[in-house]
Amino acid sequence: MREKWALPKIDVARCTGCGLCVTRCPHAAVALVEGRPVFTHPRNCTYCGLCEEVCPTEAIVLTYQVVHISLPHTATHIN
Ligand code: SF4
Ligand code: SF4
Repeated sequence: MREKWALPKIDVARCTGCGLCVTRCPHAAVALVEGRPVFTHPRNCTYCGLCEEVCPTEAIVLTYQVVHISLPHTATHIN
């Protein structure tokens, strides 16, 4: 069975290999491999956005925003 997982997007052309995203990631989802960030543990990624925040060149970005909303309770009346 194939799994789908939301991950930040890495633009290797912008990436300098500084490793800040790796040290900032609280879940060790990303690691430097041959000087470039790679999702070595993609299932650990919570899509928190800290890597995007810390990246000095905007090379790693979250491609969509996660918005948490509260749905109003709906009452169901059965007559
Ligand atoms: S979004 Fe969060 S958990 Fe995922 S790689 Fe970036 S810092 Fe790590
Ligand atoms: S913080 Fe940005 S520039 Fe540095 S390794 Fe990560 S993606 Fe590349």
